[in-house]
Amino acid sequence: MTVDSALRSPVNYSPSGKDVKALRFIEEMTLNVDFVQKKVIREILSRNSETEYLKRFGLKGFTDRKTFKSKVPVVTYDDLKPEIQPIANGDRSMILSSHPITEFLTSSGTSAGERKLMPTIDEDMDRRQLLYSLLMPVMNLYVPGLDKGKALYFLFVKAESKTPGGLPARPVLTSYYKSEQFKRRPHDPYNVYTSPNEAILCPDSSQSMYSQMLCGLLMRHEVLRLGAVFASGLLRAIGFLQTNWKELADDISTGTLSSRISDPAIKESMSKILTKPDQELADFITSVCCQDNWEGIITKIWPNTKYLDVIVTGAMAQYIPMLEYYSGRLPMACTMYASSESYFGINMKPICNPSEVSYTIMPNMAYFEFLPDEVATEQSELVELADVEVGKEYELVITTYAGLNRYRVGDILQVTGFYNSAPQFKFVRRKNVLLSIESDKTDEAELQRAVENASVLLGEKGTRVIEYTSYAETKTIPGHYVIYWELLVKDQTKPPSDEVMAQCCLEMEESLNSVYRQSRVADKSIGPLEIRVVKNGTFEELMDYAISRGASINQYKVPRCVSFTPITELLDSRVVSTHFSPALPHWSPERRR
Ligand code: AMP
Repeated sequence: MTVDSALRSPVNYSPSGKDVKALRFIEEMTLNVDFVQKKVIREILSRNSETEYLKRFGLKGFTDRKTFKSKVPVVTYDDLKPEIQPIANGDRSMILSSHPITEFLTSSGTSAGERKLMPTIDEDMDRRQLLYSLLMPVMNLYVPGLDKGKALYFLFVKAESKTPGGLPARPVLTSYYKSEQFKRRPHDPYNVYTSPNEAILCPDSSQSMYSQMLCGLLMRHEVLRLGAVFASGLLRAIGFLQTNWKELADDISTGTLSSRISDPAIKESMSKILTKPDQELADFITSVCCQDNWEGIITKIWPNTKYLDVIVTGAMAQYIPMLEYYSGRLPMACTMYASSESYFGINMKPICNPSEVSYTIMPNMAYFEFLPDEVATEQSELVELADVEVGKEYELVITTYAGLNRYRVGDILQVTGFYNSAPQFKFVRRKNVLLSIESDKTDEAELQRAVENASVLLGEKGTRVIEYTSYAETKTIPGHYVIYWELLVKDQTKPPSDEVMAQCCLEMEESLNSVYRQSRVADKSIGPLEIRVVKNGTFEELMDYAISRGASINQYKVPRCVSFTPITELLDSRVVSTHFSPALPHWSPERRR
């Protein structure tokens, strides 16, 4: 594709000004992927050549890919902890990066139960900003007129802490929303939000959600797109409306803000938005929300919505049916693929079916390598961005300006095609993740440990967990973890009491990682964990079922997570009792270690 053909829109829209510049930039990057990658690695290696980390591997000033790949190992987060910890503790010497590490971005991936700390440098914010600036120019090619209204985006900041050495440690989006780049962004008619900054920046998620929803309702006719970062966030907003619409309608009817809002900055900004009573709007909200059937509620309340802006790829695909239900099947746009380590790429066809979403990695963001997934061993040959093959699956490995070198991100991607010479990737899955409701990622080892810790509570009663599996229940808002237990009860006259079982649920939650506990406690985006006890012999039936479908009897392993409907139905039909966590687990923004 040539630069000018990229500017031709499927909807007869003629880009101008900033859009032309952004689209030209995308063309330039994607036409010259290998050249850009060579330049990026050269820049990274020359500026970081004096870091302790790179000096250790004897690069001796070489900045070419061949030498880099032959000398520097591919690593995981745990390999890098000995470098990251001293930086977090206050060591300002050039350990990973020649530019000062200005903060740590706390990934939703965990290590030893705590969020991973990703180093970042000042200028990374500009790289992220650059990727954001490409999104609307691409979207405008497909959806015209987005400058004629507003975006209702539910955006939140999360709690942050400081490392022992005094650096901020917070999620990447919290860092971005609190940045001057975001707070003082120049007016852009294509990016006008209904939510004032003050509502987005309020650390109390309930006040933040309430005021953002209220603004969305007040400006309902102006809203042209509705979104949240992930699908789970948008569904949480719908759940919030379900429980709070009466209070919201009351505020609209009286023209006064609920006393639940105590944040002075929100009060001040809302005083300019909620200026007078609007009985007609309050009656409308009441008449729509009081109905039992919420099918298509989004288009009823926000009739001019053209699409939902939410990520529904990867773990979020489980929410597609519910979003379709609430939105009356509006298109869902997955616009970008990013992480705390680095932002990666954008979707060049944002209005497509969720199953067809592919992301085009922008080669200027970092240096990218690809570990073929089928033979992912330390010896595997890593492939350059420009050389990946269509149809193959790879694990993403990145080298960043901030000092991650050949770092395994843990995402498995499949090449679906090319945009110019830039490969496009479908997000296949996150390695080793068993359960996920929103940003939490629970792996098999964590689940095993949680079951072990909880089953200690049964010990004294002579009862044991003989098999277990799990399921992410996302049909309710908020979703929650369901753990199926098959028990061996020694003394049938004394099965574990309801109280003991409920404590087992809580103990499992206490054992899960900090992202899970934060979602339970601070964000309330995950509901209480549930244990469903199934009758004896159920897991044998599960094995029979798998074997009847072709599994090998010798190699059969109990799946530690199930999602296939016939299997969950089988399990549910054998449930003898259900138990929920009776309290919130412990969580504080401070790290345990
Ligand atoms: P975090 O480090 O907490 O920001 O999480 C980043 C991770 O979220 C990525 O490595 C992916 O596993 C996942 N992720 C981010 N964007 C997408 C996307 N568009 N589709 C699917 N998964 C995504």
